[in-house]
Amino acid sequence: MMNTLPTSAASATTTAAAPCWNGRRVLVVEDSVVQRGYLVGLLRQLNFGQILEAGDGNEALRVLETCAEKPIYLVLTDLEMPGMDGIELTCQLRERRLAENLIVISARDPRLLEIIENMACEDDDFGLLGTLLKPVQLESLTQLLCKGADRPGGCAPAAAPPLPQATLEELAQALTRREFVPYFQPKIAMQNGHLKGVEALARWKHPQRGTLSPAHFIDTLEGHPLMADFTLELVQQVLERILGWQQHGLPPLTVSVNLSADNLADRGFIDRLMARVAASGVAPASLVWEVTETSVMRQLSQALTNMGRLRLAGYGLAMDDFGIGYSSMQQFARCPFTELKIDRAFVNGAAQWPNRLMVLKSALDLGQSLGVATVAEGVETVEDWKLLRDLGCDMAQGYLLAKPMPAEELVGWIRQDRRRLRALAGVE
Ligand code: C2E
Ligand code: CA
Ligand code: CA
Repeated sequence: MMNTLPTSAASATTTAAAPCWNGRRVLVVEDSVVQRGYLVGLLRQLNFGQILEAGDGNEALRVLETCAEKPIYLVLTDLEMPGMDGIELTCQLRERRLAENLIVISARDPRLLEIIENMACEDDDFGLLGTLLKPVQLESLTQLLCKGADRPGGCAPAAAPPLPQATLEELAQALTRREFVPYFQPKIAMQNGHLKGVEALARWKHPQRGTLSPAHFIDTLEGHPLMADFTLELVQQVLERILGWQQHGLPPLTVSVNLSADNLADRGFIDRLMARVAASGVAPASLVWEVTETSVMRQLSQALTNMGRLRLAGYGLAMDDFGIGYSSMQQFARCPFTELKIDRAFVNGAAQWPNRLMVLKSALDLGQSLGVATVAEGVETVEDWKLLRDLGCDMAQGYLLAKPMPAEELVGWIRQDRRRLRALAGVE
């Protein structure tokens, strides 16, 4: 059934603005002759060079093996086929790295396509550009191809290599020079669009490298005594900011601060933390400590004792990143949390992906039945916002509302964005 169809000379135009896949080889894997013809037509319109065809996964592998010396730019495969199906073919392509890019299409349940998307989440180099429901539209196919062109290793020039991780010596020096500062990301009440609180997220104001995110330093601090000093330094700055905002006449805000696993299990650290807050005059109810379930599980009994002490003193406690890791209903119910933060993996795109939606709904149910506030992380689109609002989520945090910002920008942001947020919440 394999076929090789060169594109017509007329369609193979080369201009300065030509897409980077111009003239490249593509393999279409689809058992229905009609559907395959339709896909070939779309790919011709997009100026692919050579369009190969196969009727199922086995045949596709034979084609790819014979072309091994000249790699295929794209495999476009159907999911349901006799012989080797699209899931098995995807596994083979992933293991053997037989094609640079892959797009999977299906006419069936989007849950099946989600399995493929999840494989790509576990493997950054997989090359999956995305999945599409039939009938495939030229526009959505083009969008996915453009995504591939922007990827490192795609047609675009390779991205800059990641910055090296800081050493402990550098971090100790940065701490004494007070180079770590908190940025603040708003948390918005979904019912009325009001600012309810902010999360403090650490940034390193590096004298040469600019502003660095926690990805450059948190892992190095984890497991080292320096983490205690780092957290206390950040908390100190947070306390000063809270007092400053109060003087500005800002409505009362809660500020959430991330605690590491070591922080949470260390009784001496918790004593120092509470002493710092008491000395500042800030009310404990203005602060929420965020911990992940992995942190709690690391040293369960110490963590539970310390969480109990913090709650007794009047602080809020949030379970961060709920849904990933071992998060379980049982575990959540036995800890004195006041807030449940649902990880962005179950928030982004929940409207399209049934499995994400299922986790999102059960997390919200759990929070609601235990009477704790629910917060959705990583809200990026109006579609995410609407779904969450319809499901009764209390608060939203994410780029749709605001990115983390320096403390000085918060007052201006509130003034500027108040109307937009109220309109989003449908109040106005
Ligand atoms: P996290 O606590 O889950 O914080 C949320 C992260 O998601 C932040 O990344 C934030 O910038 C990012 N984010 C917020 N909204 C969106 C969105 O709509 N889309 C996407 N894609 N991302 C969004 P950031 O600031 O890089 O922090 C990463 C992680 O580093 C935090 O994850 C937290 O685990 C850790 N971290 C940050 N500050 C501290 C700290 O002071 N102490 C400790 N122990 N960990 C910290
Ligand atoms: Ca957090
Ligand atoms: Ca989180």
